[in-house]
Formats: sequence, C-alpha cells, structure tokens
Amino acid sequence: MTPNTDLNQPLFERAKGVIPGGVNSPVRAFNAVGGTPRFVKRAQGPYFWDANDQQFVDYIGSWGPMILGHGHPEVLQAVQAAVLEGFSFGAPTEREVVLAEKIRELVPSMEMVRMVSSGTEAGMSALRLARGYTGRNKIIKFNGCYHGHADSLLVKAGSGLATFGSSSSAGVPADVVKDTIVLEYNDVAQLEEAFAKIGSEVACVILEPIAGNMNFVRASVEFTRRIRELTQEHGALMIYDEVMTGFRVALGCAQSIYAQQIEGFVPDLTVLGKVIGGGMPMAAFGGRRAIMEKLSPLGPVYQAGTLSGNPIATACGLKTLELISQPGFHADLHLKTGHLMQGLKAEADAAGVPFSIDWQGGLFGFYLLPELPSTYHAVMKTDGALFNKFYHGMLERGHYFAPALYEAGFVSSAHTEEDIARTVDAAREVFKTL
Ligand code: PLP
Repeated sequence: MTPNTDLNQPLFERAKGVIPGGVNSPVRAFNAVGGTPRFVKRAQGPYFWDANDQQFVDYIGSWGPMILGHGHPEVLQAVQAAVLEGFSFGAPTEREVVLAEKIRELVPSMEMVRMVSSGTEAGMSALRLARGYTGRNKIIKFNGCYHGHADSLLVKAGSGLATFGSSSSAGVPADVVKDTIVLEYNDVAQLEEAFAKIGSEVACVILEPIAGNMNFVRASVEFTRRIRELTQEHGALMIYDEVMTGFRVALGCAQSIYAQQIEGFVPDLTVLGKVIGGGMPMAAFGGRRAIMEKLSPLGPVYQAGTLSGNPIATACGLKTLELISQPGFHADLHLKTGHLMQGLKAEADAAGVPFSIDWQGGLFGFYLLPELPSTYHAVMKTDGALFNKFYHGMLERGHYFAPALYEAGFVSSAHTEEDIARTVDAAREVFKTL
C-alpha cells in the first residue's frame, strides 16, 4: 500500500488530534514496533479488515477475549436477545446468578464471585479485599507480570526488599506504592528471603500463573508450590491473576493445570477477565467464601459498580463459556496452536533464526531467542530490531501478531488449519529476510 492510498494513516493523524497518542490503550499505538496502527472496520471468525479493506489473520483477538473468533453466530444471537431486553438496570438479574454458578462449576476454588467491568477493576478489588481480610498492607508482585493499571500495582521492578517500591507511572504518589514489593518471577530464593524478613506483614502475593505479559513465561511448579506454602504459613493470601489465562489455557483455567502437579493446589482468590466477557466489558474476582464475605454489603471491604454484571456482557460471557465447555474444545485448540508454533519454529530453524516457543490451549508465545526465558530480564534480551522486522514482514503479508515482543498471542476455535498454514508460509518468506 503506497502512503497516499493508505487510509489507516490519515485516520491515525485525525485520531492523534483528539485522542492522546491516537489510541485508547497504549499498546495499540505501535510505539514498540513503529509504523501505523491498523484501524479495524470489521471482523469475522479469525479475520479482521482494516481501513484499506486488507484482510488480516488475527492472532490477538482483542487481546484474548475472542476465543471463539469474531461474530460467532450463537454468541451474536445471545447478545441480540439481551439487547432487546434492556441495556442496563442497576438491579440484579438472573443471568448474573447463572454466570456466577457457571464460573464456580468450572473453577471450584471460586466459591463466591463478584462481577466487575475490567481486569484492572477486578485486580484492584481483589487487592483491597486481601488487605481488608488480613488487616495487612504489604503486597508482593513479580517483575514482568501485569495486573492492570491500579495505582498500587504500577511499580517499577528492582526495588526488591532493600528499598520502598517506586512508581512506574507519573501521577502515582510514592506513599501509594510504598507497600508494593516487586520480586523476580520464578526466583524461589528471593521469595523465601522476603517471607523470612516480612512474612507477617504480607497481605497477599499476586501473580500471573503463565505470564502473558512477558509473552509466555510459565511459573515453575516449584515457584508456585513455594508461594502457596509460604502464604499459608504466614497467613497471607495467594491471588491468581487469570485475566489472560482464564478459560483460555484450559477449561478449569491455569489453576487446574498446576493442580495436576501440586496436590490440593488452589489459590485463595482468582481474578478473571477477557474470555468471561467474550469481547464485552466483563471481569470478575472470587475465591474462598470466608474471604469473599468480607465484601460489601456483607462485610467492611467496599466495592461497587454502576455497570457491574451488565446484562449484555453477562449474556455474551455466558454463551461464550457454554460453547467452550464442549468436550474437547481446549484439546483441539491446544493442538491447533501447537501446529502454528511448531510450524513457525521449523521455518525459523531452517532459516537459521534463533527461535523458541511455548503454548497452552489457545495462548502462545514465541521469542527470537535460542532458549525459552524464565524471567523478565531474559525476555528483554530479545533483539528488538529483529523482532520489528519479523513483525512488519508478517503484517504486510496479512498476519496480525501483537505489536510488541513482550506480548502473548491468541488462537481461536475459528482459526482453521489453512489459516495457520498460510501464516507459516508467510513466516518462511519473512525469516529469509532477517
Ligand atoms: N491482568 C492481566 C494478566 C492482564 O493481562 C490484563 C490485561 O491485559 C489485566 C489484568 C487488566 O485487564 P483490563 O485490561 O481488562 O483492565
């Protein structure tokens, strides 16, 4: 597309005049990879079309929610029916109860569920609840994990135990992050040291079980086990942020996978988003009844929302969960995602490009690194310029991956083996140019 016929660029210029950076969420701006973001006109199945009517195979799927692909007919029907009944009531509905029961059936550790409208809100509320329940202030998070943009979670790594946390965003007062401790992901020794020093002050440890915000880094089984043991020993809560992994890596979420390797493993609280809304603003947090009963109106921890449990979002989420509960859904998705990853790896190997892969269900990560990284520092050793070349090569050919090397990718049930084969064919051409 020559610049004077590209319709994305003038839209981006217009957008920049009225929306900061031209986008409503920063990663959409292509700052990491350079170039012009694609403005989406419409999407169907595994594809979307941009302002130029160019078709893309979509490996982002709205950053995770679209596990059935875009515009699944049964989801559309459920949403259309809900729209006709009313947009929002600010009063309870039966569908919220059905959705909460469905979540509890699929994720038994979530004995009670509270619905909100975004993953950020869910994570922020879970933290407040953990602090309210334990009566403690300190929280532990891990370098490279993202839990939304609540003030007390926007903390720079490297502060460790030696110093107070320092904010990673302007506008967050030092006082707000002074109780946030950032440790290295998968570093058991550092975790043990932290609990030995301040265990009695820790309200909770929050982590992504598979860190999709480092592309795809699994928490090791030993790391997960020690978090569970240490939080239990010291009276702190373990919060599993499954906003990205929830219902995407397995029907029982990532916790069902870790429970196969750690006997009796359950987190105290779980945070969900993305897939549970099927593309509508919907998220939730939940966990042990005794903890959840501390929430208002039952308990002293305040939490509320005008649009929480929105009737259209619940219809969309519920239908999505029903459809992904069909036997074999995640096994098929895992197989297909594996074909994509193995296909890309084979082509990278043939071209002599360093490449490592991992995937689970419909979530994947690849790195232009010879070995899979297990920490944020290792992820950041990726050659950014090489990634950008790969990224733009694939984009030009109509294959849409996350525009940043530290972001995971998503395959939906709507992607066909032919779509994947086309992506692998395109990658063969692109790897030769690197
Ligand atoms: N937690 C994780 C693991 C996420 O990946 C995200 C968003 O990508 C969030 C929380 C925040 O969710 P939201 O963007 O819906 O606020």
